[in-house]
Amino acid sequence: MARKTRNFAVIGLGTFGTTVAKELTRFGNYVIGVDINERNVAAMADTLTHAVIADARDDTALREAGIGECDVVLIAIGEDLEANVLATINAKMIGVPLIWAKAVSRTHHRILNKLGADRVVQPEEEVGMHIAQMLHNPLMRDYVSLGNGFHVVNMRVPESLEGKRVSQLDLGDRFELRCLGVMRGSEFIGSDSSDCALSVDDKLLVLGNRINLREFAASL
Ligand code: ADP
Repeated sequence: MARKTRNFAVIGLGTFGTTVAKELTRFGNYVIGVDINERNVAAMADTLTHAVIADARDDTALREAGIGECDVVLIAIGEDLEANVLATINAKMIGVPLIWAKAVSRTHHRILNKLGADRVVQPEEEVGMHIAQMLHNPLMRDYVSLGNGFHVVNMRVPESLEGKRVSQLDLGDRFELRCLGVMRGSEFIGSDSSDCALSVDDKLLVLGNRINLREFAASL
C-alpha cells in the first residue's frame, strides 16, 4: 500500500508547477518548491512547506534546497530546455528515487526518457487530446485510458435510452462492453445497476475497448 504522505519537490513554479505543488500540499504532503525567480518563490512561501530560490542547473543549490531528502521530484520548468534537462540530470545524480519531468515536445520527451526520468508528461498535449475526445464524442463526459485501447467512459444517457434498463442495452453480447455502474446525482449504483431504469440525468460508466465503445455510441 502506497504511503499517503510523501516528500515532494517541484522545480519550476510557473503555472503548471504551482498548480501541482499547491494540490500536493492540500493533500497533506511535504512539498518543497524551487524556482530561480524570487517573485515566484515569494508568492508560494506561505502555501508550500518550503519555497526556495535556487538555480536548478546547479546541483549543489538543489542539494542545499533539500532535494536529496525527497521521494519524488517534478521538474516543471517549461521553456528553458537547458535548465529542464540539467535539473533532470541533477535530480538523477542526487539519487531522487522517482523523477517526473515536463517536456515541451516529442524530441524533448525522448531526451528526458533517455536521461532517466521515470515519467515524462506533456501537460498541454495530454489535456488537449483529452478535451478533443470529449468534444468529438458529445455523450462522453470524461474517460480514463487503461492502456492497450481499453477505457472507462463516463457518459451521458441520451434521450433514446430514457427508461431502458441497463440489461436491455445488451452491452456484453452486442458490444463486448461492461457497465460498471450508474451515477445518479451523488449516488453510485454499482452491482445492481443492470436492473436500473435509466434517466437522461444519469451517467453511465462503461468499460471496454475503443472500437466497441465507438460502435455503442454510434448505435444510440
Ligand atoms: P508554465 O508554462 O507552467 O508557466 P514556465 O516555463 O513558464 O512554465 O515556468 C517555469 C518556471 O521555471 C518559471 O517560474 C521559471 O522562473 C522557472 N525556472 C526557469 N529556469 C529555472 C532554473 N534554472 N532553475 C529554477 N527554476 C527555473
